[in-house]
Formats: sequence, structure tokens, C-alpha cells
Amino acid sequence: QPPEVRTVPLPSGEHVPALGQGTWGWAQDPARRAGEKESLLLGLDLGLTLIDTAEMYGQGAAEELVGETLAARRDEAFLVTKVLPYNASRTETVNACERSLKRLRTDRIDLYLLHWRGAVPLAETLQAFEDLLDAGKIRHWGVSNFDPADLRELAALPGGDAAATNQVLYNLTRRGIEYDLLPRCQETGVPVMAYSPVEQGRLLPAPALRAVARRHEATPAQVALAWVLRQSGVIAIPRTGRADHVRENHAALTLTLTDDDLAALDDAFPPVRGPVPLEML
Ligand code: NDP
Repeated sequence: QPPEVRTVPLPSGEHVPALGQGTWGWAQDPARRAGEKESLLLGLDLGLTLIDTAEMYGQGAAEELVGETLAARRDEAFLVTKVLPYNASRTETVNACERSLKRLRTDRIDLYLLHWRGAVPLAETLQAFEDLLDAGKIRHWGVSNFDPADLRELAALPGGDAAATNQVLYNLTRRGIEYDLLPRCQETGVPVMAYSPVEQGRLLPAPALRAVARRHEATPAQVALAWVLRQSGVIAIPRTGRADHVRENHAALTLTLTDDDLAALDDAFPPVRGPVPLEML
């Protein structure tokens, strides 16, 4: 029996796992498909039940793969998917959601995010999210790639304080959110969902990361994940299509970095000293 996965509370009081699974780029390579499905199911067995996808990923193919894989186990998962900003009008959001529900083979999405800000007025998208909540088609809504100014604008709208998460880029090489966005989200009780927590793999060869990993008999990916997860109110959603990496990432939950580790990582990846524009991938 694997250890219980630490959870993070949403503003509604519902808890979700601090470590989930990403799916960007999935269902593109037939040779990797079996590994992707196996990873998803193993992750579910281990308690990594928060699954992040988007209508954008493979133009629906990633959602379809998730739906097909989870067909018999949907109720074990907390499904997160996203509407594209150019589908985010009041009526088109509802249509996009219906298409996602179909591909995901389910009757409800646990958390529905606006993928990034576009031209549609936020108030309209919010209206659509409220319509979908009322219809029981989504259980929570949230945003992605919102900077502090976007969050302020959102919070000023009626119902805007109900956002359940802000999903943003966060890892050792992308520390900008630590200056203002992360403290703001922690103060308002909105979890930050860290995407690309291992910088899509580019972070893993870094010597400082490898040195800390050696001290713990851990891997660089585990240190990178433990680092993201060291703060309260942060959820990480690494993507892996390999079962061995799922086990490895899951084990990162039991790795606690010491003050010396954190200082060494700060030397190699300095924290920001002022506001920086929110980065996106
Ligand atoms: P990640 O930082 O999660 O990196 C994924 C890469 O890291 C893969 O190539 C994977 O390879 C590798 N990897 C994962 N675990 C390990 C490990 N233990 N050891 C070695 N390599 C490893 O990048 P993503 O950009 O995919 O971000 C994660 C998720 O966040 C996405 O899949 C998506 O769901 C979401 N996202 C959201 C965005 C947004 O705008 N809202 C933007 C970008 C991502 P392998 O499969 O071989 O293990």
C-alpha cells in the first residue's frame, strides 16, 4: 500500500493531491501510447489522481486518451481540463465543455480552467463557468497563466473570488511567481498549480540539482519536484509517459530538502529580487 499522498485544499474545502499528472503532447506518437496509458493508471494506483489535460492538447487527442484510459475508473480521478481563450465566450465555452466531456467520456469535469487570457471579456467566461456549474457539468472553475494584474481584475468581478486555482509555469529556473503571484495566491487561499515542474526535462542535467540529488540518493527530477512542493498551497503536475518515472515522481513526495539543499539551489537558481513578467510555455 503506497503512502497517502499529501493534499492541498481548494477554496471549496475539497482536497486534491499535491502531485498530479500532466498530459501535454500525449496521444501524438503511437509508439508511446501504451506507456502513456500505463503511466496514467499506475499514477492512479499510487494516488496521483489529479489529471491535467486540455482541449488544445493534440486538438482533443489527449482528452480522448484520458477518457479511454479511465473509462472504468473515472470516479477515482479528479479531472482538470481547459478551454481555449478563443472558445471562451458565454456560449462557446459551454460548447467546448460539451466536446471535452464527450472526449473524456464523463458527465462532469472536476476543474475547468481558462487556458490563458484572450480577447473575450473575463466576465463573459465567468458567466459561462457559472452556467456550467449550475448544470453540474463542471464542479470547480479556475484560470491558467494569469498574472497578478489579471487576478486582481478577476477578483473584482462578481463571483470572481471563486477561482479554484491558477495554473502557471513554476520550477527552479522560473521563479518569478515567488515575488508576488505566489504570496498573493497563498494569502487568498487559491492553490497554484505548477506546470512544467521539471522544465520539460531541460532542468535535469543541472549540476546543482545533481549534487543535491546525490546527497539524498534521489534523482534530479525528485529534487526538482520536492523543491516545487516545499511550499504550502502548491500542486505540481509533471508529465511522464514512463511507469518508472511515475514511481520516481511519486517517491518525491517523501523527499524533504534541508536548509543546506535549499541554499545550494538558491545559489544555482537565484530567487528574483523584484517583479518580473509572468512567463509561459
Ligand atoms: P514537465 O516539466 O512535466 O516535463 C515533462 C518531461 O519530463 C517529459 O519529457 C518527461 O519524459 C520528463 N520527465 C518526467 N518525469 C521524469 C523523471 N522522473 N525523470 C526523467 N524525466 C522525466 O513538462 P510539461 O510541459 O509537460 O508540464 C507538465 C504538465 O503541465 C503538462 O503535461 C500539461 O498538463 C501542463 N501544462 C500546462 C500549461 C498551461 O499553459 N496551462 C503549459 C505547459 C504544461 P518521460 O515521459 O520520458 O518521462
